[in-house]
Amino acid sequence: SYGDLRNATNGFSSSNMIGSGSFGIVFKAFIPTEKKVVAVKVLNLQRRGAMKSFMAECESLKDIRHRNLVKLLTACSSIDFQENEFRALIYEFMPNGSLDKWLHQEEVEEIHRPSRTLTFLERLKIAVDVASALDYLHVHCHEPIAHCDLKPSNVLLDDDLTAHVSDFGLARLLLKFDEESFFNQLSSAGVRGTIGYAAPEYGMGGQPSIYGDVYSFGVLILEMFTGKRPTNELFGGNFTLISYTKSALPERVLDIVDKSILHSGLRVGFPVVECLTLVYEVGLRCCEESPTNRLATSEVVKELILIRERFF
Ligand code: ADP
Repeated sequence: SYGDLRNATNGFSSSNMIGSGSFGIVFKAFIPTEKKVVAVKVLNLQRRGAMKSFMAECESLKDIRHRNLVKLLTACSSIDFQENEFRALIYEFMPNGSLDKWLHQEEVEEIHRPSRTLTFLERLKIAVDVASALDYLHVHCHEPIAHCDLKPSNVLLDDDLTAHVSDFGLARLLLKFDEESFFNQLSSAGVRGTIGYAAPEYGMGGQPSIYGDVYSFGVLILEMFTGKRPTNELFGGNFTLISYTKSALPERVLDIVDKSILHSGLRVGFPVVECLTLVYEVGLRCCEESPTNRLATSEVVKELILIRERFF
């Protein structure tokens, strides 16, 4: 209930806040009856009423389960103490936070900063995890689900650094339930940094699609293995300017990659250029301009696993 969530988050206090994103504010909460730490995402919706249809949508989201998706535990739709409508999604808590924080540690406050950088192999495992989650959403769910907002802050890491994708199904929920908020929030999200991850066709009025997710995934692995955000000037402000990267393969691969990646637990003599080139090629084939020329998620999973088996 609203009261339970209020207690569990110390009255939604700022000390319990763990982040804020395109669709709401996230709080850490301890649920005493379950003896469980959870993440409570308080949604910022325009639409009023329709509590039942909201809860019905959330029920169908709860059926979407995969080892690389953040588990939606329950939802709450209620009236708060000030008689305002309150809606929240309650997820399992991911103790190692978002991939974004691990990739761009220099931007993170010292108390939240990870104690080390991710190794090359860990990055490859995370890429396989995220691709597997997408493949499940695109192909193995009872109906194909496009994530629509894949980016490193939506990839969360558990205790052993297994990656879990969050916010899946939220686009669909909001689109059905509160179309106005959906489009408002997507455009404001653009200003806040999602822009580099959205497929070029989205900028031309294209509908959200599984092909768009593959594009975002391509950006994500290029970011993971260069250490550079897609908005980095090196990429002309956007990874869509692939020509730079393409001509950089393979001779200049080492120029664009963050040196910390090269020093992350690789054995002496590891064929880093060869391995990076293959990973980049997967990323670039996900970022093809034409949506149907992009790799399918099942191919992405297969290719990344082949690379892992060949080099590690
Ligand atoms: P964004 O739109 O930036 O992805 P979110 O609203 O999904 O934002 O989440 C904001 C931040 O809250 C995330 O970047 C992450 O650090 C944190 N967060 C979200 N969900 C969880 C969770 N289940 N466990 C731990 N941290 C979470």
